Amino acid sequence: MNVHEYQAKQVLAGFGVAVPQGALAKTASEARREAESLGGDVWVVKAQIHAGGRGKAGGVRLCRSLDEVEQAVEDLIGSTLVTKQTGDSGKLVSKVWIEQGLNIAKEFYVSLLIDRQRECISFMLSPDGGMDIEKVAADTPERIMHIPVAAEVTRENSMQMASFLGLQGGQVESFSKLTTGLCKAFQAKDVSLLELNPLVLTAEGKLIALDAKMAFDDNALYRQEEMRALRDVDEEDALEAEAAAFGLNYISLDGSIGCMVNGAGLAMATMDIIQLKGEKPANFLDVGGGVTEETVTEGFRLLFGNEHLKAILVNIFGGIVRCDIIAQGLINAVSEGAMRVPVILRLVGTHEEDGKRLIHEAGINVRWAHDLDEAAEFAAAAVREAV
Ligand code: ADP
Ligand code: MG
Repeated sequence: MNVHEYQAKQVLAGFGVAVPQGALAKTASEARREAESLGGDVWVVKAQIHAGGRGKAGGVRLCRSLDEVEQAVEDLIGSTLVTKQTGDSGKLVSKVWIEQGLNIAKEFYVSLLIDRQRECISFMLSPDGGMDIEKVAADTPERIMHIPVAAEVTRENSMQMASFLGLQGGQVESFSKLTTGLCKAFQAKDVSLLELNPLVLTAEGKLIALDAKMAFDDNALYRQEEMRALRDVDEEDALEAEAAAFGLNYISLDGSIGCMVNGAGLAMATMDIIQLKGEKPANFLDVGGGVTEETVTEGFRLLFGNEHLKAILVNIFGGIVRCDIIAQGLINAVSEGAMRVPVILRLVGTHEEDGKRLIHEAGINVRWAHDLDEAAEFAAAAVREAV
């Protein structure tokens, strides 16, 4: 689960991390009032969407008067922001965060992530903050440092990181407080990724988290009531959110062949072979082992509800999953509305004959495939015929 920048900053502030003073607004007049009470003469208006790269896309506006603040909010609210991270369709801006404009002397990159290789959490940092970190990693990998940490950040860890960033004097002490706070927040809130890009050193010598991204481990959300409350469903993929409510493992992709498969491995193989046939999968969907007629029906509803689909490929290798349950789910979903796109079925294993009989009896016009290769071939052909 991801949260907005302003929410991540509020969580971090609770762990002693210095963040700019700010306020949330949904209208221009509200923003003006908030800016006025924040005080100062420079403000930054920042679109709150679950994506980075806002600065380059015009989603972060520096304002030198209250009128400019109002204007910036006027422009941003209701607009669709397309950034490097949003995909082509962009994201609708429905709220902005207004904060004090800081006098930036330097921008750093600091993140904390789960380091699976070292089986611990690691800091990743760079003196080249505010930039695309993937680009820094590709062009100048020596400008990135990885510091694995044990249960807490040691003095040695902090000194090493501070010196890599070129911090001096009192800044080292504030940096140590910052890293300790980040590490505590990471563990206490079951965070899977925490990124400050940039962490800034102000002209006055203060270290402040200017941007913050936080992602939480979904499997730990059951014990993170406060973090769960930060969820913004409007920012999430509608189909994914609906699937999650039914316990389906569903990820939206941008192709045109909808997939319904049992088992993650088989689902990946199915997506691979679709690409091998020159087409693209529209989703990953693993119905899992413990499926019921209801969840399968919901799975098919999700697929039928995706207007970008040109074909559906059902690839079931029935072990624990029973083919007749899959068949019944398809029949239920079809009975609710038109089967808009061709459905290709590869259905083998447990209760295979029952499944096939149910579909024949229901009179649903599907295309049967004997194996995965043939199924993918049929699906790809259906897509080509559709255009
Ligand atoms: P994004 O990563 O989505 O582009 P950031 O929050 O990192 O958004 O902002 C982009 C840039 O805008 C920062 O690198 C910084 O230079 C500038 N900026 C952001 N917030 C402030 C602020 N409060 N004061 C001054 N400059 C800011
Ligand atoms: Mg940023």
